[in-house]
Amino acid sequence: MSLNENRSFPASVTNLAELEGNDPEVFAALCGEETRERNGIELIPSENYTFPEVLACLGSVFTNKYSEGYPGRRYYGGQTFTDQIENLARDRAKSVFRCEHANVQPLSGSAMNQAVYLGLLEPGDTIMAMDLSHGGHLTHGAPVSHMGSLFNFVRYVTDPVDGSIDFDQVRSDALRTKPKMMLCGYTSYPRDIDYAAFKAIADEVGAITMTDASHFGGLVAGQAMNNPFDFGFDIVTTTTHKSLRGPRGGMVLCRKPFAKKIDKSVFPGLQGGPHMNAVAAIAVTLQKAQTIEFQAYAHQVLKNAKALSGALLDEGADLVTGGTDNHMMVMDTMKTFGLDGRVAEEVLDRVQITTNKQIIPDDPNPPLRPSGIRMGTPAATTRGMLESDMLQLSGWICECLRHPEDEGILSRVRGEVEAFCQGFPVPGL
Ligand SMILES: *Cc1c(COP(=O)(O)O)cnc(C)c1O
Repeated sequence: MSLNENRSFPASVTNLAELEGNDPEVFAALCGEETRERNGIELIPSENYTFPEVLACLGSVFTNKYSEGYPGRRYYGGQTFTDQIENLARDRAKSVFRCEHANVQPLSGSAMNQAVYLGLLEPGDTIMAMDLSHGGHLTHGAPVSHMGSLFNFVRYVTDPVDGSIDFDQVRSDALRTKPKMMLCGYTSYPRDIDYAAFKAIADEVGAITMTDASHFGGLVAGQAMNNPFDFGFDIVTTTTHKSLRGPRGGMVLCRKPFAKKIDKSVFPGLQGGPHMNAVAAIAVTLQKAQTIEFQAYAHQVLKNAKALSGALLDEGADLVTGGTDNHMMVMDTMKTFGLDGRVAEEVLDRVQITTNKQIIPDDPNPPLRPSGIRMGTPAATTRGMLESDMLQLSGWICECLRHPEDEGILSRVRGEVEAFCQGFPVPGL
C-alpha cells in the first residue's frame, strides 16, 4: 500500500482536549509556552517556529515505531512506512544540499558531530576548529566536552576588529599540527566562511573537510548562503531545527566515499532506534525547503539581519566584528550600555524580547556573566517581519538597555511589543 492510498485522516493527531482533562499541569505549561511564543519577539538566532506540519508529524504514530537499521535493512519488522519516510527524507536532503549521501537519523546536532568524529577518526587524532569564544560550538572540541578530551583539537581564532580568519596562521598551524580534519562552522560568528581557503589548506595537509552548518543550514538550503559542497567539501552537518524550521534533530551529509563509515557510525556506533516521527518531520521540512517561498524566506532573514545590525549601529551599539554577513549579530552590551550579558538578557526578557547572553572573543568576563548578547532574525522573519520592523525592534532594545531600571519604560515597551506581535501571527498557532 502506498502512502497515497492511505487517505482517511489519521486518528493519531495530538489530542490536546484529552491532555487538558488528564494532566492539567502539563497542559497549563504548554498553554503558557504557546502564549509566550505568541506575545514575544524571539531573537535567539538558533531558534525558530517550525512548520505546522512538523508539529503534526512529531505528534504522530511514527513515535511508536522502532526502526533500527536503514531502509531495506532493518532489524525489526513492520517497516513499510518507515522505509518510505526515511527514503523520502534522504532523497530530499540530497537534492536540497546537492550532495551524494545523507544520514537523517542523528538525534541532535551534538550526536551528528560525534558520529562524524568517531566514525572517521581515531582517538587522539588532530582536528582544527574555531575557538569557542570566537564562535565555535561546544562540540567543536571545547575542553568541557567529551569530544574535547577524546580528540586533539587545535583552535583558530578571528580578528578582533573585522572577524576575519588569518589563513596564513591557519596554514602554518595546519602544517605544524597535521590535522586529520579541518572543521569550519559556528554558533556565534556573524560573518561568512571562505570555504575555498579552508579547502586549499586541507588539501595541502591531506585533511578531511567538514562544515558544521547547524546555524545556517536553512540559509544554504534556501540558496541565500554558499553551499560548502560547491567548494569540494567532504562533510556537511546541520541541525534541522534552526534556520531550516524543522524538528529537533541533525543530519550528516557527505560525499560517497564517506557514506558507509558515516552510516555505521550513527547506527550502530552511536545510537539505537532513530526517532521516526522526527524523520517524517524532516522529510516535510526538506520538501518545504525546495520552494520559492523558502528561498524568499532565507534571503529575507539576511536582509533583516542587515537592517537590525544597521539600526543598532546607528544607535551607537558596539557589534562584534562591526556588523553581520549572516543571520546573527553579537552586541557587546558591556561596552555599549555598561551591562553584562546576563543583565541585558534579563532586561529584554522583561519586555518579551528573547535574546541570549553570549561570550565575545577573548571575553574578560565569565561565561555566566559574559560581555554580550547574541541576536538573530530567523524566527522573527518566519512571522513575516521585514526591514522596517527591525528598526522598531532596535529602538525598543536600545531604549530598554539604556534605562534598565525604569519600570515605566519597561512596562510601556512590554505592552507595545505584545500589541506589535498580534500583527505577526506564528504559523500554525
Ligand atoms: C546548535 C549547534 C549544535 C548542536 O545542536 P544540538 O541539537 O543542540 O545538540 C552543533 N553545532 C553547532 C554549530 C550548533 O550551532
